[in-house]
Amino acid sequence: MGSLLVKNGTAIVNGVSVNTDVLIENGIISKIGCCLNGNGIKELDAGGLYVLPGLIDEHVHLREPGLTYKEDFGSGTSAAAAGGMTLVLDMPNTLPPTDSAERLIEKKEIVGRKSHVDYGLYGLVRDTSEVTEVIRMINSGCIGFKSYMGPTTGNIPAPSHGTLYTILNALSEADVPLVVHAEDDGLIKLFTEKANKSDILSHLNSRPYVCETFSVGELASLSEYTGAHVHVAHVSSAKTVKIIGWAKMNGIKLTGEVTPHHLFLGSKIYDTAGNLAKINPPIRSEEDGKALLNAVSNGIISTVASDHSPHTVEEKIGDSPPSGFPGLETELPLMLDAVNAGKLGLSDVVRLMSENVARLFGIYPQYGSLLPGARGNITIISLNSRAKINAEKFYSKAKYSPFDGMELKGKVVYTVVGGETVYDGEVHDDIIGEFVKGK
Ligand SMILES: [Zn+2]
Repeated sequence: MGSLLVKNGTAIVNGVSVNTDVLIENGIISKIGCCLNGNGIKELDAGGLYVLPGLIDEHVHLREPGLTYKEDFGSGTSAAAAGGMTLVLDMPNTLPPTDSAERLIEKKEIVGRKSHVDYGLYGLVRDTSEVTEVIRMINSGCIGFKSYMGPTTGNIPAPSHGTLYTILNALSEADVPLVVHAEDDGLIKLFTEKANKSDILSHLNSRPYVCETFSVGELASLSEYTGAHVHVAHVSSAKTVKIIGWAKMNGIKLTGEVTPHHLFLGSKIYDTAGNLAKINPPIRSEEDGKALLNAVSNGIISTVASDHSPHTVEEKIGDSPPSGFPGLETELPLMLDAVNAGKLGLSDVVRLMSENVARLFGIYPQYGSLLPGARGNITIISLNSRAKINAEKFYSKAKYSPFDGMELKGKVVYTVVGGETVYDGEVHDDIIGEFVKGK
Protein backbone atom coordinates (compact mmCIF):
# COMPACT_ATOMS: atom_id res chain seq x y z
CA MET A 1 0.00 0.00 0.00
CA GLY A 2 1.50 3.30 -1.04
CA SER A 3 1.28 6.86 0.16
CA LEU A 4 1.65 9.69 -2.29
CA LEU A 5 0.91 13.40 -2.50
CA VAL A 6 0.00 14.52 -6.01
CA LYS A 7 0.66 18.27 -6.17
CA ASN A 8 -0.44 21.07 -8.51
CA GLY A 9 -2.54 19.02 -10.92
CA THR A 10 -5.88 19.82 -12.48
CA ALA A 11 -8.35 17.20 -11.29
CA ILE A 12 -11.64 16.29 -12.90
CA VAL A 13 -14.14 16.13 -10.04
CA ASN A 14 -17.85 15.64 -10.76
CA GLY A 15 -17.23 16.65 -14.35
CA VAL A 16 -15.51 19.92 -13.44
CA SER A 17 -11.80 20.86 -13.70
CA VAL A 18 -10.32 22.04 -10.40
CA ASN A 19 -6.74 22.89 -9.47
CA THR A 20 -6.08 20.72 -6.48
CA ASP A 21 -3.74 18.35 -4.67
CA VAL A 22 -4.66 14.74 -3.95
CA LEU A 23 -3.30 12.93 -0.89
CA ILE A 24 -3.21 9.14 -0.85
CA GLU A 25 -2.38 7.45 2.46
CA ASN A 26 -1.90 3.69 2.74
CA GLY A 27 -3.49 3.08 -0.63
CA ILE A 28 -6.61 5.19 0.04
CA ILE A 29 -7.40 8.78 -1.02
CA SER A 30 -7.51 10.66 2.27
CA LYS A 31 -7.76 14.30 1.20
CA ILE A 32 -8.36 16.38 -1.86
CA GLY A 33 -7.92 20.15 -1.78
CA CYS A 34 -5.55 23.08 -2.07
CA CYS A 35 -2.04 23.22 -0.63
CA LEU A 36 -1.99 19.85 1.13
CA ASN A 37 0.98 18.84 3.26
CA GLY A 38 2.13 15.24 3.05
CA ASN A 39 4.40 15.49 6.09
CA GLY A 40 7.34 13.99 4.26
CA ILE A 41 5.61 11.35 2.14
CA LYS A 42 6.58 10.95 -1.48
CA GLU A 43 5.41 13.81 -3.73
CA LEU A 44 4.58 13.83 -7.41
CA ASP A 45 4.41 17.12 -9.29
CA ALA A 46 1.43 17.10 -11.66
CA GLY A 47 1.83 20.75 -12.69
CA GLY A 48 0.40 21.25 -16.20
CA LEU A 49 -1.19 17.79 -16.10
CA TYR A 50 -4.71 16.43 -15.56
CA VAL A 51 -5.43 14.12 -12.64
CA LEU A 52 -8.24 11.67 -13.39
CA PRO A 53 -9.90 9.05 -11.19
CA GLY A 54 -8.13 5.78 -12.05
CA LEU A 55 -9.34 4.60 -15.44
CA ILE A 56 -10.89 1.15 -15.73
CA ASP A 57 -10.91 -1.12 -18.76
CA GLU A 58 -14.00 -3.28 -18.36
CA HIS A 59 -13.20 -5.50 -21.37
CA VAL A 60 -9.82 -7.20 -21.75
CA HIS A 61 -8.66 -10.68 -22.73
CA LEU A 62 -5.36 -11.32 -20.96
CA ARG A 63 -5.43 -14.96 -22.18
CA GLU A 64 -4.42 -16.61 -18.92
CA PRO A 65 -4.80 -19.50 -18.22
CA GLY A 66 -4.24 -21.56 -21.34
CA LEU A 67 -3.34 -19.09 -24.09
CA THR A 68 -0.33 -17.39 -22.52
CA TYR A 69 1.67 -17.53 -25.76
CA LYS A 70 -0.69 -14.71 -26.90
CA GLU A 71 -0.60 -12.69 -23.63
CA ASP A 72 -0.38 -13.35 -19.91
CA PHE A 73 -1.43 -11.39 -16.85
CA GLY A 74 2.07 -9.93 -16.39
CA SER A 75 2.41 -8.61 -19.94
CA GLY A 76 -1.27 -7.66 -20.22
CA THR A 77 -1.37 -5.66 -17.00
CA SER A 78 1.96 -3.99 -17.89
CA ALA A 79 0.22 -2.88 -21.10
CA ALA A 80 -2.71 -1.69 -18.96
CA ALA A 81 -0.43 0.38 -16.71
CA ALA A 82 1.34 1.91 -19.73
CA GLY A 83 -2.11 2.70 -21.15
CA GLY A 84 -3.26 4.53 -18.00
CA MET A 85 -5.56 1.75 -16.78
CA THR A 86 -5.62 1.16 -13.01
CA LEU A 87 -8.15 -1.68 -13.03
CA VAL A 88 -8.88 -4.27 -15.71
CA LEU A 89 -11.83 -6.64 -15.85
CA ASP A 90 -10.73 -9.85 -17.53
CA MET A 91 -12.97 -11.93 -19.76
CA PRO A 92 -13.69 -15.62 -19.09
CA ASN A 93 -13.03 -17.19 -22.54
CA THR A 94 -9.69 -18.65 -21.49
CA LEU A 95 -8.64 -22.32 -21.57
CA PRO A 96 -10.33 -23.64 -19.54
CA PRO A 97 -13.11 -21.03 -19.51
CA THR A 98 -14.02 -19.40 -16.18
CA ASP A 99 -17.40 -21.10 -15.88
CA SER A 100 -17.44 -22.33 -12.27
CA ALA A 101 -16.52 -21.04 -8.81
CA GLU A 102 -13.57 -23.49 -8.70
CA ARG A 103 -12.17 -22.15 -11.95
CA LEU A 104 -12.66 -18.56 -10.83
CA ILE A 105 -10.71 -19.23 -7.61
CA GLU A 106 -8.02 -21.13 -9.54
CA LYS A 107 -7.64 -18.27 -12.01
CA LYS A 108 -7.40 -15.74 -9.19
CA GLU A 109 -4.57 -17.78 -7.61
CA ILE A 110 -2.66 -17.96 -10.90
CA VAL A 111 -3.02 -14.36 -12.09
CA GLY A 112 -3.12 -12.49 -8.78
CA ARG A 113 0.63 -12.79 -8.20
CA LYS A 114 1.49 -11.04 -11.45
CA SER A 115 -1.19 -8.41 -11.92
CA HIS A 116 0.48 -4.99 -11.97
CA VAL A 117 -2.84 -3.13 -11.75
CA ASP A 118 -6.05 -3.98 -9.90
CA TYR A 119 -8.11 -6.70 -11.54
CA GLY A 120 -11.58 -8.21 -11.55
CA LEU A 121 -12.64 -11.48 -13.16
CA TYR A 122 -15.78 -12.28 -15.13
CA GLY A 123 -17.68 -15.54 -14.87
CA LEU A 124 -18.99 -17.17 -18.04
CA VAL A 125 -22.68 -17.78 -18.72
CA ARG A 126 -22.78 -20.50 -21.36
CA ASP A 127 -24.97 -23.28 -22.76
CA THR A 128 -24.49 -25.50 -19.69
CA SER A 129 -24.77 -22.78 -16.99
CA GLU A 130 -26.99 -23.33 -13.96
CA VAL A 131 -28.27 -20.84 -11.40
CA THR A 132 -26.58 -22.54 -8.43
CA GLU A 133 -23.14 -22.28 -10.07
CA VAL A 134 -23.75 -18.66 -11.07
CA ILE A 135 -24.58 -17.83 -7.44
CA ARG A 136 -21.43 -19.66 -6.28
CA MET A 137 -19.37 -17.58 -8.71
CA ILE A 138 -20.93 -14.37 -7.35
CA ASN A 139 -20.10 -15.50 -3.81
CA SER A 140 -16.52 -16.20 -4.95
CA GLY A 141 -16.14 -12.56 -5.99
CA CYS A 142 -16.68 -12.48 -9.75
CA ILE A 143 -17.16 -8.91 -10.98
CA GLY A 144 -19.92 -9.73 -13.45
CA PHE A 145 -20.80 -12.24 -16.16
CA LYS A 146 -20.18 -12.56 -19.88
CA SER A 147 -22.08 -14.43 -22.57
CA TYR A 148 -21.20 -15.03 -26.20
CA MET A 149 -24.20 -15.25 -28.51
CA GLY A 150 -22.01 -16.32 -31.45
CA PRO A 151 -18.65 -17.99 -32.17
CA THR A 152 -15.64 -16.72 -30.17
CA THR A 153 -12.05 -17.52 -29.13
CA GLY A 154 -12.37 -20.77 -27.15
CA ASN A 155 -15.39 -22.00 -29.20
CA ILE A 156 -17.93 -21.69 -26.41
CA PRO A 157 -21.51 -22.55 -27.43
CA ALA A 158 -24.04 -19.73 -26.82
CA PRO A 159 -26.63 -20.23 -24.07
CA SER A 160 -30.11 -21.19 -25.30
CA HIS A 161 -32.88 -18.61 -24.88
CA GLY A 162 -34.20 -20.73 -21.99
CA THR A 163 -30.84 -20.78 -20.20
CA LEU A 164 -30.39 -17.07 -20.80
CA TYR A 165 -33.85 -16.31 -19.38
CA THR A 166 -33.26 -18.46 -16.29
CA ILE A 167 -29.84 -16.96 -15.56
CA LEU A 168 -31.02 -13.37 -16.19
CA ASN A 169 -33.79 -13.91 -13.65
CA ALA A 170 -31.15 -14.91 -11.09
CA LEU A 171 -28.86 -12.01 -12.04
CA SER A 172 -31.76 -9.57 -11.75
CA GLU A 173 -32.30 -10.75 -8.18
CA ALA A 174 -28.57 -10.55 -7.36
CA ASP A 175 -28.29 -7.16 -9.16
CA VAL A 176 -25.21 -8.29 -11.12
CA PRO A 177 -24.85 -7.32 -14.80
CA LEU A 178 -24.49 -9.63 -17.78
CA VAL A 179 -22.14 -8.32 -20.48
CA VAL A 180 -22.95 -9.83 -23.85
CA HIS A 181 -21.12 -10.27 -27.11
CA ALA A 182 -24.31 -9.80 -29.10
CA GLU A 183 -23.97 -11.26 -32.58
CA ASP A 184 -26.44 -14.01 -33.45
CA ASP A 185 -24.92 -17.44 -34.09
CA GLY A 186 -27.51 -18.63 -36.62
CA LEU A 187 -27.28 -15.50 -38.75
CA ILE A 188 -23.45 -15.52 -38.66
CA LYS A 189 -23.48 -19.14 -39.89
CA LEU A 190 -25.83 -18.25 -42.74
CA PHE A 191 -23.86 -15.19 -43.87
CA THR A 192 -20.52 -17.01 -43.49
CA GLU A 193 -21.71 -19.73 -45.87
CA LYS A 194 -22.86 -17.05 -48.31
CA ALA A 195 -19.57 -15.15 -48.09
CA ASN A 196 -17.78 -18.44 -48.71
CA LYS A 197 -14.21 -17.10 -48.53
CA SER A 198 -11.79 -16.29 -45.75
CA ASP A 199 -10.45 -12.91 -46.96
CA ILE A 200 -11.04 -9.85 -44.84
CA LEU A 201 -13.94 -8.38 -46.85
CA SER A 202 -15.74 -11.73 -46.68
CA HIS A 203 -15.32 -11.48 -42.93
CA LEU A 204 -17.15 -8.15 -43.03
CA ASN A 205 -19.90 -9.68 -45.16
CA SER A 206 -20.21 -12.68 -42.84
CA ARG A 207 -21.29 -10.41 -39.97
CA PRO A 208 -23.61 -7.68 -41.28
CA TYR A 209 -25.19 -5.38 -38.70
CA VAL A 210 -28.37 -7.46 -38.55
CA CYS A 211 -26.41 -10.14 -36.62
CA GLU A 212 -25.97 -7.51 -33.90
CA THR A 213 -29.38 -5.78 -34.01
CA PHE A 214 -31.21 -9.13 -33.99
CA SER A 215 -29.31 -10.30 -30.92
CA VAL A 216 -29.62 -6.95 -29.09
CA GLY A 217 -33.38 -6.92 -29.78
CA GLU A 218 -33.73 -10.33 -28.10
CA LEU A 219 -31.63 -9.18 -25.16
CA ALA A 220 -33.74 -6.02 -24.79
CA SER A 221 -36.84 -8.22 -24.51
CA LEU A 222 -35.27 -10.47 -21.89
CA SER A 223 -33.87 -7.52 -19.95
CA GLU A 224 -37.30 -5.85 -19.92
CA TYR A 225 -39.04 -9.05 -18.82
CA THR A 226 -36.57 -10.12 -16.11
CA GLY A 227 -35.38 -6.69 -14.95
CA ALA A 228 -31.76 -7.83 -15.37
CA HIS A 229 -29.05 -5.38 -16.44
CA VAL A 230 -27.69 -6.39 -19.83
CA HIS A 231 -24.64 -4.48 -21.08
CA VAL A 232 -23.92 -4.86 -24.80
CA ALA A 233 -20.17 -5.17 -25.43
CA HIS A 234 -18.51 -3.37 -28.37
CA VAL A 235 -21.61 -1.88 -30.04
CA SER A 236 -20.61 -1.50 -33.69
CA SER A 237 -23.52 -0.14 -35.69
CA ALA A 238 -25.71 2.98 -35.82
CA LYS A 239 -28.83 0.76 -35.86
CA THR A 240 -27.87 -0.85 -32.54
CA VAL A 241 -27.47 2.61 -30.98
CA LYS A 242 -31.12 3.24 -31.88
CA ILE A 243 -32.27 0.10 -30.04
CA ILE A 244 -30.24 1.03 -26.94
CA GLY A 245 -31.62 4.58 -27.07
CA TRP A 246 -35.16 3.18 -27.30
CA ALA A 247 -34.50 0.87 -24.34
CA LYS A 248 -33.15 3.77 -22.29
CA MET A 249 -36.23 5.88 -23.04
CA ASN A 250 -38.44 3.01 -21.89
CA GLY A 251 -36.62 2.36 -18.62
CA ILE A 252 -35.12 -0.94 -19.75
CA LYS A 253 -31.77 -1.77 -18.16
CA LEU A 254 -29.97 -2.28 -21.46
CA THR A 255 -26.72 -0.33 -21.82
CA GLY A 256 -23.82 -0.33 -24.24
CA GLU A 257 -20.05 -0.19 -24.52
CA VAL A 258 -18.02 0.96 -27.53
CA THR A 259 -14.37 0.52 -28.44
CA PRO A 260 -11.95 3.10 -29.86
CA HIS A 261 -11.57 1.03 -33.05
CA HIS A 262 -15.31 1.16 -33.74
CA LEU A 263 -15.28 4.88 -32.91
CA PHE A 264 -12.24 6.00 -34.88
CA LEU A 265 -11.52 3.52 -37.68
CA GLY A 266 -13.81 2.99 -40.65
CA SER A 267 -13.90 -0.20 -42.72
CA LYS A 268 -11.31 1.36 -45.09
CA ILE A 269 -8.72 0.29 -42.49
CA TYR A 270 -9.04 -3.21 -44.00
CA ASP A 271 -7.45 -1.91 -47.23
CA THR A 272 -4.25 -1.05 -45.41
CA ALA A 273 -4.13 -3.24 -42.28
CA GLY A 274 -5.91 -6.31 -43.74
CA ASN A 275 -6.30 -9.17 -41.27
CA LEU A 276 -4.32 -7.35 -38.57
CA ALA A 277 -7.51 -5.29 -38.17
CA LYS A 278 -9.81 -8.34 -38.20
CA ILE A 279 -12.04 -8.22 -35.12
CA ASN A 280 -15.60 -9.02 -34.04
CA PRO A 281 -17.92 -7.31 -34.54
CA PRO A 282 -16.23 -5.98 -37.68
CA ILE A 283 -15.34 -2.32 -38.08
CA ARG A 284 -18.13 -0.78 -40.14
CA SER A 285 -18.66 2.44 -42.10
CA GLU A 286 -17.50 5.90 -41.11
CA GLU A 287 -21.18 6.81 -40.64
CA ASP A 288 -21.46 4.07 -38.02
CA GLY A 289 -18.37 5.49 -36.30
CA LYS A 290 -19.96 8.96 -36.26
CA ALA A 291 -23.19 7.60 -34.78
CA LEU A 292 -21.18 5.83 -32.05
CA LEU A 293 -19.24 9.02 -31.26
CA ASN A 294 -22.50 10.90 -31.02
CA ALA A 295 -23.86 8.19 -28.69
CA VAL A 296 -20.89 8.36 -26.31
CA SER A 297 -21.16 12.13 -26.00
CA ASN A 298 -24.95 12.23 -25.57
CA GLY A 299 -25.00 9.43 -22.98
CA ILE A 300 -26.84 6.71 -24.94
CA ILE A 301 -23.66 4.61 -24.81
CA SER A 302 -22.33 4.51 -21.27
CA THR A 303 -18.82 3.03 -21.41
CA VAL A 304 -15.68 2.84 -23.58
CA ALA A 305 -13.37 -0.19 -23.38
CA SER A 306 -10.53 -1.59 -25.47
CA ASP A 307 -11.64 -5.21 -26.06
CA HIS A 308 -7.89 -5.88 -25.85
CA SER A 309 -7.81 -9.24 -27.65
CA PRO A 310 -4.24 -10.17 -28.55
CA HIS A 311 -3.07 -12.97 -30.85
CA THR A 312 0.44 -13.57 -32.16
CA VAL A 313 1.41 -11.75 -35.33
CA GLU A 314 2.10 -15.15 -36.96
CA GLU A 315 -1.52 -16.15 -36.29
CA LYS A 316 -2.77 -12.81 -37.66
CA ILE A 317 -0.90 -13.12 -40.96
CA GLY A 318 -1.45 -16.89 -41.27
CA ASP A 319 -4.03 -18.81 -43.30
CA SER A 320 -6.94 -18.59 -40.85
CA PRO A 321 -6.35 -15.38 -38.93
CA PRO A 322 -8.23 -15.11 -35.62
CA SER A 323 -10.28 -12.02 -34.72
CA GLY A 324 -8.86 -9.50 -32.29
CA PHE A 325 -5.89 -7.20 -31.70
CA PRO A 326 -4.34 -5.41 -28.71
CA GLY A 327 -5.93 -2.15 -27.52
CA LEU A 328 -4.78 -1.38 -23.98
CA GLU A 329 -1.90 0.87 -25.02
CA THR A 330 -3.80 2.82 -27.67
CA GLU A 331 -7.25 3.47 -26.17
CA LEU A 332 -6.51 6.41 -23.89
CA PRO A 333 -4.23 8.31 -26.32
CA LEU A 334 -6.96 7.89 -28.96
CA MET A 335 -9.61 9.26 -26.60
CA LEU A 336 -7.36 12.17 -25.58
CA ASP A 337 -6.68 12.96 -29.23
CA ALA A 338 -10.47 13.09 -29.73
CA VAL A 339 -10.68 15.52 -26.80
CA ASN A 340 -8.04 17.72 -28.44
CA ALA A 341 -9.98 17.54 -31.71
CA GLY A 342 -13.10 18.82 -29.90
CA LYS A 343 -15.07 15.60 -30.44
CA LEU A 344 -15.41 14.89 -26.70
CA GLY A 345 -14.75 16.57 -23.36
CA LEU A 346 -12.17 15.27 -20.90
CA SER A 347 -15.03 14.85 -18.42
CA ASP A 348 -16.69 12.54 -20.98
CA VAL A 349 -13.55 10.37 -20.94
CA VAL A 350 -13.73 10.18 -17.13
CA ARG A 351 -17.43 9.30 -17.25
CA LEU A 352 -17.04 6.67 -19.98
CA MET A 353 -13.83 5.01 -18.78
CA SER A 354 -14.07 5.35 -15.01
CA GLU A 355 -17.21 6.55 -13.26
CA ASN A 356 -19.84 4.76 -15.37
CA VAL A 357 -17.82 1.55 -15.36
CA ALA A 358 -17.53 1.57 -11.57
CA ARG A 359 -21.26 2.27 -11.24
CA LEU A 360 -22.15 -0.53 -13.66
CA PHE A 361 -20.26 -3.11 -11.58
CA GLY A 362 -21.41 -1.73 -8.21
CA ILE A 363 -17.92 -0.63 -7.08
CA TYR A 364 -18.48 3.15 -7.13
CA PRO A 365 -17.27 5.32 -5.32
CA GLN A 366 -14.38 3.10 -4.08
CA TYR A 367 -13.45 3.05 -7.77
CA GLY A 368 -14.31 5.63 -10.43
CA SER A 369 -14.00 8.65 -8.12
CA LEU A 370 -11.46 10.91 -6.44
CA LEU A 371 -13.51 11.11 -3.24
CA PRO A 372 -11.83 10.64 0.14
CA GLY A 373 -12.17 6.96 1.06
CA ALA A 374 -11.72 5.77 -2.54
CA ARG A 375 -8.91 3.43 -3.55
CA GLY A 376 -5.81 5.49 -4.38
CA ASN A 377 -5.97 4.87 -8.11
CA ILE A 378 -5.33 7.79 -10.42
CA THR A 379 -4.42 8.33 -14.04
CA ILE A 380 -2.36 11.43 -14.82
CA ILE A 381 -2.31 12.67 -18.40
CA SER A 382 -0.99 15.44 -20.56
CA LEU A 383 -3.31 16.92 -23.16
CA ASN A 384 -0.48 18.82 -24.88
CA SER A 385 2.16 16.15 -25.54
CA ARG A 386 2.18 14.40 -28.85
CA ALA A 387 3.27 10.80 -29.31
CA LYS A 388 3.36 8.36 -32.18
CA ILE A 389 1.90 4.89 -31.68
CA ASN A 390 4.76 2.44 -31.98
CA ALA A 391 3.47 -1.13 -31.69
CA GLU A 392 7.00 -2.56 -31.54
CA LYS A 393 7.34 -0.88 -28.15
CA PHE A 394 4.12 -2.31 -26.69
CA TYR A 395 4.30 -4.08 -23.34
CA SER A 396 1.66 -6.43 -24.76
CA LYS A 397 3.05 -9.58 -26.37
CA ALA A 398 1.04 -8.62 -29.48
CA LYS A 399 3.29 -6.03 -31.10
CA TYR A 400 1.04 -4.78 -33.90
CA SER A 401 -1.96 -2.47 -34.14
CA PRO A 402 -4.23 -1.03 -36.82
CA PHE A 403 -3.36 2.32 -35.19
CA ASP A 404 0.41 1.79 -35.57
CA GLY A 405 2.22 4.92 -36.74
CA MET A 406 -0.61 7.30 -35.90
CA GLU A 407 0.49 10.53 -34.25
CA LEU A 408 -1.83 11.50 -31.41
CA LYS A 409 -2.07 14.55 -29.19
CA GLY A 410 -2.52 13.53 -25.55
CA LYS A 411 -0.61 10.91 -23.57
CA VAL A 412 -0.42 9.00 -20.33
CA VAL A 413 2.20 10.40 -17.97
CA TYR A 414 1.66 8.50 -14.69
CA THR A 415 -0.48 5.55 -13.63
CA VAL A 416 -0.96 5.21 -9.88
CA VAL A 417 -2.44 2.08 -8.29
CA GLY A 418 -3.13 2.05 -4.55
CA GLY A 419 -0.81 5.04 -4.10
CA GLU A 420 2.09 3.32 -5.93
CA THR A 421 3.38 4.72 -9.23
CA VAL A 422 3.21 1.71 -11.54
CA TYR A 423 3.95 3.74 -14.70
CA ASP A 424 6.00 6.90 -15.11
CA GLY A 425 7.30 6.46 -18.64
CA GLU A 426 8.16 2.86 -17.86
CA VAL A 427 6.27 0.10 -16.04
CA HIS A 428 7.44 -0.86 -12.55
CA ASP A 429 6.57 -4.52 -12.48
CA ASP A 430 7.38 -4.99 -8.80
CA ILE A 431 3.98 -3.41 -8.09
CA ILE A 432 1.11 -5.84 -7.62
CA GLY A 433 -2.55 -4.79 -7.78
CA GLU A 434 -5.55 -6.00 -5.78
CA PHE A 435 -8.37 -8.36 -6.62
CA VAL A 436 -11.61 -6.39 -6.96
CA LYS A 437 -14.78 -8.25 -6.05
CA GLY A 438 -18.18 -7.54 -7.51
CA LYS A 439 -20.70 -6.31 -5.00
ZN1 LIG B 1 -13.97 -9.27 -26.17
